[in-house]
Amino acid sequence: MTGPEELHGVTLLAEEAAALAAMADASSVAELERLRVEWLGRRGRVTEQLRAVGTLPADQRRTAGQRLNALRALMEKRLDARLAECARRDLEQRLIEERLDLTLPSAPPAVGRLHPVTRTRRRLEDAMVRLGFSLFEGPQVEDEWHNFEALNMPAEHPAREMHDTFYLPPPYLLRTHTSPFQVRSMKAAQGRLPLRVFTIGTTFRRDDDPTHAPQFMQMEGLLLDVGIGLGHLKGVVRQVFKEVFGGDPVLRIRPSFFPFTEPSVEWDMQCTLCGGSGCRVCQNTGFLELLGSGMVHPHVIRAGGYDPELVSGFAFGWGVDRLAMLAYGIDDIRLLYQNDLRLLNQL
Ligand SMILES: [Zn+2]
Repeated sequence: MTGPEELHGVTLLAEEAAALAAMADASSVAELERLRVEWLGRRGRVTEQLRAVGTLPADQRRTAGQRLNALRALMEKRLDARLAECARRDLEQRLIEERLDLTLPSAPPAVGRLHPVTRTRRRLEDAMVRLGFSLFEGPQVEDEWHNFEALNMPAEHPAREMHDTFYLPPPYLLRTHTSPFQVRSMKAAQGRLPLRVFTIGTTFRRDDDPTHAPQFMQMEGLLLDVGIGLGHLKGVVRQVFKEVFGGDPVLRIRPSFFPFTEPSVEWDMQCTLCGGSGCRVCQNTGFLELLGSGMVHPHVIRAGGYDPELVSGFAFGWGVDRLAMLAYGIDDIRLLYQNDLRLLNQL
């Protein structure tokens, strides 16, 4: 309540006394602010009265002005004091409420996960190892001989044009496919048979559109032995599809062309999304073109240090990113390499 010394010299109306009492009792900043506006604001009651002093008869102006100024000072003093008290109380309250509680459990750590291409790669590796193939890794920086000549693509071969190669100082380049591993693994085996190897790794071409990235991943298998024929190729590739996709996928074989295999065949798998009736993913064909293969060309076998008159073999390969796109329903290969967590967290 108001002390007598504060009211000295000021004649209070009943409403003003009530307002001063309310200011002394206000328990929140919002309440104090409301009272300040009501009484001392630009259109407040004290302000309005002060403005009206000039209209009073001359003999009353002085007294009225003094009274109102004293009242305004009194209210300001009361409001400021109460405001400081509320602020201090709020701070104390916050300090109690927000005190660090060391017994609370900590925020869970952000757990990462493997990239979809990595997961697809590991699935392929597991499948190949189960089939008895062992991993053979070749360099990503290749020389022209291993990347082209040894694979039956001499300098003037039109297939070299299609490869859109990233060239380094001669004779080096970034490998445009994993196929150089065929010759490298043959040379490393030094005539031993059977040779049953696979490779999986990054390859590079000057391409950049929704289905071609300048850097992509291929997997390739090679089997070399005496008396190997197209029937063996069909049996093994069929088994690879089963291992990777599970069940017994419906497959279609088409004759094709690769410089380093003869004959060459491509494999299509019935679209797993539409069951062959046609959809956006299979471009309404009902089939997905997935794997290229063929009997290793005699020229390649010779480049690897074996005699094509005595041994024969087959090779097959496919794009790891393309399999990841199909497995996770991604329609733009570039999304796989943008590291956008909004996408990756969905996969
Ligand atoms: Zn489909």
